[in-house]
Amino acid sequence: MHKHLISALLMSSLAFAAPRVGEHDNAYRLVFDLAGNTDFSVQALTSGIQIQLTQPVLTPESGTVNVPFVRSYATTANSITLKFDPAYLQEIKVSFLPASGEQKARLVLDLPKMVLASTPPSPSKDFPVPTPAKNPEVMYPESLDPNLDVLNYDLGLEVDVQKNFLKGTALIQLKTVASTPAIRLNLLGLTVSEVQVNGKTAAFQQQGQHLLIDLNETSSVGKTYRVQVIYSGVPKTVKDPGDTEEDSVGWKKFKDGIYVLNEPNGAMSWFPCNDHPSDKATFTFRITVPLPYMGVANGTSKTTSNLNDSKTYVYEMKEPMATYLATVHINRFGQEIRQLRPNLKIRNYFPASLPEDFQKKELGKLEAMLNFMEKQVGPYPFSEYGVIFTEYPTPYALETQTLSTFPSQKKADWAFVHELSHGWFGNSVTPKTWSDLWLSEGFATYFQDLWQYPKEKDLKAFLKTRYERNLKNKMKPPYITERKELFSQRAYQRGSLVLHALKFKIGEKAFGQVLQNYHKTHAFKNASTEDFVQSVVKTTGKPELKGFLEKWIYGSVVPEFPELGQ
Ligand SMILES: [Zn+2]
Repeated sequence: MHKHLISALLMSSLAFAAPRVGEHDNAYRLVFDLAGNTDFSVQALTSGIQIQLTQPVLTPESGTVNVPFVRSYATTANSITLKFDPAYLQEIKVSFLPASGEQKARLVLDLPKMVLASTPPSPSKDFPVPTPAKNPEVMYPESLDPNLDVLNYDLGLEVDVQKNFLKGTALIQLKTVASTPAIRLNLLGLTVSEVQVNGKTAAFQQQGQHLLIDLNETSSVGKTYRVQVIYSGVPKTVKDPGDTEEDSVGWKKFKDGIYVLNEPNGAMSWFPCNDHPSDKATFTFRITVPLPYMGVANGTSKTTSNLNDSKTYVYEMKEPMATYLATVHINRFGQEIRQLRPNLKIRNYFPASLPEDFQKKELGKLEAMLNFMEKQVGPYPFSEYGVIFTEYPTPYALETQTLSTFPSQKKADWAFVHELSHGWFGNSVTPKTWSDLWLSEGFATYFQDLWQYPKEKDLKAFLKTRYERNLKNKMKPPYITERKELFSQRAYQRGSLVLHALKFKIGEKAFGQVLQNYHKTHAFKNASTEDFVQSVVKTTGKPELKGFLEKWIYGSVVPEFPELGQ
C-alpha cells in the first residue's frame, strides 16, 4: 500500500453543521446545512436498499421521492431536509463533494446510534464455541480463527450496481487444524440466510463481525469441510485503522461503480472469510453485473457468459492469496491485455472516464521495472500482472495480487515500482502477522528508493536525510504491535532502513543472495520477522547478524548507520 494523507486537508476546506436528528410525524428528520457546497449527495443504507440522491435529482421545492423509506424531502439553496421511515433505516451517510479544487472532497457524517433500527441477534447459550487456541495475532486477533486453514474460496457475487446490493454465495473449502465443534469466520454488515456444511444445513449465528458455524460434530485434526454461505445486503466499509471514510476499507461504492481495497480487515465487508494474512487460499470469483458494467477481479480471466442483460465474469487465482489482497472492481473499463512473454500476461484497466493517455507513460516502463526487480530477486512469481485504476480519487494504491489498484490521481513511476515489488514481498511472501508488515512495506520502500536513486551517491544523500529525520523524530521500531500505528512510517521508512543498513554492512553481492534465498524459501507462503532473520544468518553464514538485525527491527532507538557518513 502507498498512502497519502489527504483527508485532513480535505476536511479543512469544508464547513458544515452537524445533523440534527429528531422524530417528526413518525419519521426521522435530518437537516443538513450545506454551507454553500453546491455539489452533494446523500446515501442512506437501509435493511436491503441503498438510495443515493445526487444534486440533479433534487429541485428547490418540496416533493416526494419514490423510494419506500424516504417520506419526503425539501431543499433550499443551502440545506436539504429528508424524512425517513424509521422502520427501514439502519444508517444514513451524507457526502459533500465541493466542485472547486483539484481533488474532490468527500465527507461522511454518521448518525448517532439512536437511529440504528436493527441490532444483531444475541447468541443462544447452547451454541458451541470454537475450541480456544493460541492466537499469534496481537493487533487483529478477532479476525483470525487459528483453528482453521482455508484452502479455497469460490465466490459467487451478483451485484446490483445502482443499488450497491450484493447477493453472495461463498463456497469455502477448509481444513480444521485443531479439534473444534464450531468455526468462526468474519462477515460484517451483510445478512446470512443459509449455511451448509458438507451439503447439510448447519446452524449459524452472526455476532458483530463474526459468523459462527456449528460443524455438528467435533472435528478431527486435518479434516476438510465444504462450507457454503448464502448472504446478501448492501456492503458497508470497515472503519479501520482510522475513522474517516478515506481511511475506511473494504467494498466501496462511488458514483458510477464499485471497487475494493481490503487492507487490513475489509474483506469481511463482502465475503465470509478467515480474514488474516496467515491464512492464504486460492480463489475463484464469479462476478455477475448488469450490462454495460464489467466485473474485474485479480487472478486469471477464465470465462464470461451473458444472461439477458447481465454478464458473469470468472477469474481464478491459483496461487494462494491473503484475503486483504483480493479485489473486485465494477465499472465501465477500457482494457489493455497483452502477452509480454510466453509465461507473463499483462492486464491493465482504465475507467472509461479517464483520459486515453492516463499514466500510459509510466505503464510503458513496466517491462523495465520487471527487469529491475528480477535482476535483484529472481523471476516474477506469477503468470499475470497489471494495474487497475479507480475512478474515485482513492487515497492510496494497493498491491492487490497480480492486479495492483491505483487511484485516479497521477502517480510517479516509483509508485508503480513500489506496488510491483509487492509481487515478491507481500503477495508471494506474505507477512505472517500484521506486526510483520515491515517485511512487505519496508521491502517495497527499499525497491522504490533504488529505482528513484540509481546512483549510489544520490541514494546515500537521500537515505541520510531519511535517517536523520528518523533519529530526530525518535521513530519507533518497524516491528509494530500498536494497532493505530500499523500503517505509520515505521513499517515503511524505518523498515526500509533495515535493508539499506544490512546491504551496506554485508555488501551488494551477499545482500542479493539474501533477497533471493529469502524469497525462494517462503514463496507463496508466509514469513515472520524471525524467519527473515534466520534466512539472513543462514545465507551469509554470519550468526552475529542476528543481533545487528534485532537492533534495527525491535530497538526503540534508531541504530547507528556509519556508512552514510557524518
Ligand atoms: Zn506498499
